[in-house]
Amino acid sequence: MLARHSGDYHWDAVPVLAYKEDGGRFKDVTRQVLFDGAPGLPCQMRYFEVSPGGHSSLEHHAHVHFVIIFRGEGDVLIGDAVHHVRERDALTIPAHHWHQFRATGETPLGFLCLVAAERDRPAVPTADDIEALKRLPGVKNFIRW
Ligand code: MN
Repeated sequence: MLARHSGDYHWDAVPVLAYKEDGGRFKDVTRQVLFDGAPGLPCQMRYFEVSPGGHSSLEHHAHVHFVIIFRGEGDVLIGDAVHHVRERDALTIPAHHWHQFRATGETPLGFLCLVAAERDRPAVPTADDIEALKRLPGVKNFIRW
């Protein structure tokens, strides 16, 4: 099975999808599912791309993400800290850690994201959660909501 890269971070026969069907607040994010699970390997590998100035939703959940930055650079909130990330950085987002990605460069921020095929739905922040996050140094000016 080969999905050949067809240029500009697209792959043959892999559709470019909306980031999410529902829930969360986000801006200018696309999703491509490069691997959709197989017997013995019940996971998905997705490629997300955030346009310059865009951001993923602020969320947490029980399932874990493993992410490799594939293109560009950006800032990412993991738990209570914001990190600057660039191509080839690898990060794990543990269970129930708030997370959000923002593209900060001139080019899109693209990342590969591995998740379990069966997973819980993300929780989005309440007004109290937002207030608590805004009290964290470095996070106050980061989150988009
Ligand atoms: Mn998530």
